[in-house]
Amino acid sequence: MTRRIALLPGDGIGPEVLAAARRVLEAVAQRRSTDFEFDEVSIGGIAIDETGSSLPQESLRQCEAADALLLGAVGGPEWSDPTASVRPEQGLLDLRQHFGLFANLRPIPVFSALMDFAPLRSDLLEKVDILFVRELTGGLYFGDRHEQGDGDFAYDTMAYSVAEVERVAHVAFKAARGRRGKLTSVDKANVLASMRLWRRVVEGIAPQYPDVELEHLLVDACAMHLMRSPGAFDVVLAGNLFGDILSDEASILSGSLGMLPSASLGEGSFGLFEPVHGSAPDIAGKGIANPIGAILSAAMLLRFSLGLEDEAAAIEAAVLGAIDAGLRTADLAAPGDRGASTSEATEAVLDRL
Ligand code: NAD
Repeated sequence: MTRRIALLPGDGIGPEVLAAARRVLEAVAQRRSTDFEFDEVSIGGIAIDETGSSLPQESLRQCEAADALLLGAVGGPEWSDPTASVRPEQGLLDLRQHFGLFANLRPIPVFSALMDFAPLRSDLLEKVDILFVRELTGGLYFGDRHEQGDGDFAYDTMAYSVAEVERVAHVAFKAARGRRGKLTSVDKANVLASMRLWRRVVEGIAPQYPDVELEHLLVDACAMHLMRSPGAFDVVLAGNLFGDILSDEASILSGSLGMLPSASLGEGSFGLFEPVHGSAPDIAGKGIANPIGAILSAAMLLRFSLGLEDEAAAIEAAVLGAIDAGLRTADLAAPGDRGASTSEATEAVLDRL
């Protein structure tokens, strides 16, 4: 059966890391007699330059025809004028909303060979394996009232409905059930009404998952515990704003932003998969971007959207094998060492696949 994968390279290092992920997917297809059809889709700053829109209608049509989406990154200094009427990031927000991708999954693995790159002592990192489940289409970033007048006053609204919290909480409980059975729900219920509703709804559905141990943490306490005892976390559930901040904080545990993948899912199997890093304009075009986050995103795509668990696990094992054997891109190289290029890193993974 042919599966259609829409590739959205975007800006900066996006095209470089997506080309690496594509090579890995092509190798999987060849070795496992699965067929993938790729469709290149324009999004972000480059789409603005070409069409005036960060998510042109034609791109949306191509995405609708696909079984899953794999994205590089969007944005860059060329399009960062705050007064511009259209911005690259809007294309990504529109894509998530159009497909109802309300649950953002961000695994934070710690590679034992890379522990020295994290700013925490290695004894604190030994058992770290965290999965963030961040609500992605509600909360402060999507509250229907945002106001920035010409005067000295501006506001944004944080709003959640019961249904919005329930559906993402179910994703988190199910994920915890398939892992170590612990769920930490993050809120600010002591101050915010929307977060009191969040806690009440999560409490309400917990009895459906008696095998999952639920704890609630205030966001400020969670930020502290993530650094003091990161090994104590399994699945962390948070709203849009808090999930954004906490998952970025935790990303340093893996040693480099370039290593981390993510998945954005809705009700069905369709999803958007992307590395967590941005377009890294400072290294774009140099051929030195770390492609592992994008390659691991491709593995998540195979697992969640195409149901190809063995193939996903094979990619993850190949990445781990390459890292254990000493693969270090520039972001992880020792001072004075140029590190592996994007294509050398890709080859190292392909060799082990
Ligand atoms: P960034 O993630 O692009 O870069 C932060 C630092 O990490 C830079 O020093 C960069 O060189 C390094 N880095 C990131 N990815 C790397 C990789 N794969 N290999 C090696 N080094 C890597 O974040 P930023 O500099 O804050 O943002 C740059 C642009 O990216 C901005 O326009 C921002 O809006 C955009 N952005 C996009 C996304 C997205 O597309 N989802 C996410 C975050 C930022």
